[in-house]
Amino acid sequence: MSNLELLPINVAGEWRLGGGDEYQSLYPATAEPIARLNAASPSDVDEAIVGADRAFRTSGWARMLPHARAAVLHRVAALIRERSEDLAQKQRLDNGKPINETRALVASAAGTFQFFAAALETLEDSITPSRGAYVTMSVHEPMGVVAAITPWNSPIASEAQKMAPALAAGNAVVVKPAEVTPLMALELAKICEEAGVPKGIVSVLPGKGSVIGDAITRHPLVKRVSFTGGTTTGKHIAHIAADKMMPVSLELGGKSPTMVLEDADLDHAVAGVLYGIFSSSGESCIAGSRLFVARSIYDAFVTRLAQAAHALRIGDPASERTQMGPLITAKHRESIERYVDLGVSEGGRIRTGGVRPSGADYDRGFFYTPTILEGLGNNARITQEEIFGPVLVAMPFDTEDDLIAQANDSVYALAAGVWSRDFKRAWKLGRAVQAGTVWINTYKQFSVSTPFGGWRDSGLGREKGREGIFQYMEQKSMYWGTNEEPLPWAR
Ligand code: NAD
Repeated sequence: MSNLELLPINVAGEWRLGGGDEYQSLYPATAEPIARLNAASPSDVDEAIVGADRAFRTSGWARMLPHARAAVLHRVAALIRERSEDLAQKQRLDNGKPINETRALVASAAGTFQFFAAALETLEDSITPSRGAYVTMSVHEPMGVVAAITPWNSPIASEAQKMAPALAAGNAVVVKPAEVTPLMALELAKICEEAGVPKGIVSVLPGKGSVIGDAITRHPLVKRVSFTGGTTTGKHIAHIAADKMMPVSLELGGKSPTMVLEDADLDHAVAGVLYGIFSSSGESCIAGSRLFVARSIYDAFVTRLAQAAHALRIGDPASERTQMGPLITAKHRESIERYVDLGVSEGGRIRTGGVRPSGADYDRGFFYTPTILEGLGNNARITQEEIFGPVLVAMPFDTEDDLIAQANDSVYALAAGVWSRDFKRAWKLGRAVQAGTVWINTYKQFSVSTPFGGWRDSGLGREKGREGIFQYMEQKSMYWGTNEEPLPWAR
């Protein structure tokens, strides 16, 4: 082990060493350790959740007036902005994304806290039409302790996406970041503390999902799990939730189709398809990893795309010129390589990429070249299974009916892209494709004010949007009697 100082974790507001095994977070560009910490232990989990429940009941957070709680969340946003460069650099080291991307993720986290502070302050309950001698109201209450379980691909943004609405709703939050990227959740907990979130309302428990995530999910005091990660894990959590009768939101995997029609603006389509699959090194749930191109323009389009992919600048995540950093771990790169080999063995041809980049700059990190395969159908395994890396499968299509049938032929339904100058065709395809988000003549654009989530194996529930806060609240109907006389039945 290196001589880095051991980082404390946050157990119900106490900063202390975790009770679990020691491990290191590595910089994926060089494989050097950048942080050392002890994972949480199952008893840390219990202590954090019992403490969170106590803080929820006694700290006054849940009962704070909305504008006062919103003011704390505005301070969280301001502190994130004040420290944005430091956070962006830390996140670059933690997960190897290029600095331009981590800066954007930090800015998005600040925006998310600001948005949910505003949503909280302007939240309205309703008076519903009465059908008797009473006034009826629908109001919302916080739930108690909620868990946020996040993946490694977009830390800080993923954590903020769950913490901000959960805290705005008045809950206590136990955050379980991915084992390999623990740093941003810990930074957010520090910021929440400094902004005035009461002690115990936020805990951060890094560690293995199968141990710590599982213990959190099963804990009887956890009233909701908001999960982002793989579909297999999501289904496991859903089973536990069914036994506890606990609501969950599941943001899961994807295998999103991008459709380029013959009338598309090709400059825009090439840039958008490239960004859609290769930004974040393809480690993105919404990566446009299945490309359908009208047969009449297929060859010309894929040739341009392959040239542009080949020219992408791969390398040092600290450089502002870098477009693609390394993959998250050596193991993940091996899984991507196995998928590319599988694609070739299924009859696929590599148009570009399919190898590790060579040279001293790439020797130690987990780099992989942007890869385009063709010659495979939509039913090939690498066209159906989520690879979560910079691998695109390109396919020609003949008719719109055929296109829609293939685009929808997937267990996933997270996102889709349509490229066409004809707004009527784009509208028709956009409505016909089954996906939680459809981008038309753009791709991978996000706004916290627009709901996000998947259909089918891509998930359950929606995050973001003003309604996102209600995921973390229980709804209650209140009847206020206005009778002049006792209820007649008892007479
Ligand atoms: P993962 O499912 O392995 O892990 C996600 C989180 O769940 C981690 O914190 C992990 O430790 C935890 N976990 C693992 N097993 C658990 C268990 N048994 N109980 C409770 N928690 C457990 O996913 P990953 O490899 O970290 O992330 C990649 C996946 O995430 C991809 O499938 C990707 O598509 C998906 N993802 C989805 C979205 C979305 O919004 N739909 C966003 C980002 C990533």
